[in-house]
Order: sequence, then structure tokens, then C-alpha cells
Amino acid sequence: MIRKFSSFTLALCLFLSVSAVCRGAEADLMVYVTNTGERYHREGCSSLRRSRIPISLGEAVRSGYGPCSICKPPSLSENALIPEEPRPPLYRVNVAELALSAEAELPRMVPAEVIDHVDGDTVRVRIQNAPDQVGPVETIRLIGVDTPETVHPSKPVERFGKEASNFTREGLLGKSVYLAFDWDLRDRYGRLLAYIYTGDGRCFNAFLIREGYGFAYTRFPFQFMEEFRTLERQARDEKRGLWGDNS
Ligand SMILES: [Zn+2]
Repeated sequence: MIRKFSSFTLALCLFLSVSAVCRGAEADLMVYVTNTGERYHREGCSSLRRSRIPISLGEAVRSGYGPCSICKPPSLSENALIPEEPRPPLYRVNVAELALSAEAELPRMVPAEVIDHVDGDTVRVRIQNAPDQVGPVETIRLIGVDTPETVHPSKPVERFGKEASNFTREGLLGKSVYLAFDWDLRDRYGRLLAYIYTGDGRCFNAFLIREGYGFAYTRFPFQFMEEFRTLERQARDEKRGLWGDNS
């Protein structure tokens, strides 16, 4: 009886460990993602012409990428062993705890990489292990700042628009950044509303206004509104950027 039981247990253990290894191998399979897409692909898919980043199937699924409908890459079976990685919380600033944007805490924020630049106040980011409600690739509208228009289809390029756009490209493109959120997560175009922090702890939204590359945008309320208004006044008083006499 005892021997029977132990050989059964042994067989069971063997079965479980073999299937765990198989499922592990499934998650370790290599697939590919692109710089800006939200799908993962098989090697050779036409979608990989512009960029091709190898990633394990488990990681792709965990990061929120879905399978490409053209190349139909393998998907993880229901019971596949995906190591649970806790999703980071959505860090929202709170002026009751922090008076200034400079006090917000990087370790509590969501890490991201700036992969594309749209204009002075809008960029695209890739977010590994994105929190709930956030996708692996997002367009971000910086909260509380409005830079002069450069890409509007029907408006002319506004004065200082190019400079503001270049300032943001040089400051953020290709950089690892940290995202913090406010009351509203998205605007009416579905863009993610965020404060972007650089690795040195600087709030880039506030920096744009302080250096005179943008206005405090106060049509929609946000928690650092008073601070951003003050920064705009300072930039204006010191004739920085777009407040300068001869630009
Ligand atoms: Zn594909």
C-alpha cells in the first residue's frame, strides 16, 4: 500500500514538474515587439520592418501586448505558467502630502521610456509592466502645460512652437522617465494625462513652464495649478523663452 502510494506520488510529481517545465518553456518562447506597436509578432512578420525587439512570450503577455492578427504568433495556453509580477500601482500626486511638483517621489512612479516625440507637450512612451488601465504604449499629454502649436492640421505654426517642440525632444526622447498621474487619467482624445519626471527628479511639465517654453494650462483643474501659475509668472518676469523681447 505504502509502495503503491509512493510510486503514485512519484509519478504525480514527475508529471507536475515536466508539465511545469513545458509551460515554462512556452512562456520563454521568443516573439518580437516594435517600438510603437501594441502587438507581438513571429519572426519575419512584415510589421517588424521598422523595429524589432525580441521579448519572451511570457513577458509580452505580462506587459499587455496582444498577438498580431497578420502573422498569428503563438499565444499562451490558459494554464501557462506566467510568473506573477505585481503590477505597479498608479501613482497619483496629492498636494495634501506634497506641496510642490519637485517633491513627488520617483520610486512610487511608473517607469517608462520615451519612444516618440509629437510636439512640445505630447510624447509617446513604452511602459513595461504597465499598471491597470494603462497600455504598453501610450500617447502622453503633459498635465498643466500648453506649448505653442506646431502640428495642428489647420493652424499655422505658432511663435516659439518649434523651439518648444525641440526643447521637449532634446529633453525627453529616448530617455527613461517616471510617470505620475492626477485626478483625470485621460483627456477626451484618450491620451494619457501625466506628469513626466526625469531621472534627476525634475518634473518636466514644470520645467517647460519655468524655462518659458509653455504656458500654465489651467482650463482643466490639476493639483499643481497654483505652482504652475507661479512658474509662468516667474518666466514672464525674467523674460525667458517665449516671454523674451525679441523672439
Ligand atoms: Zn505580425
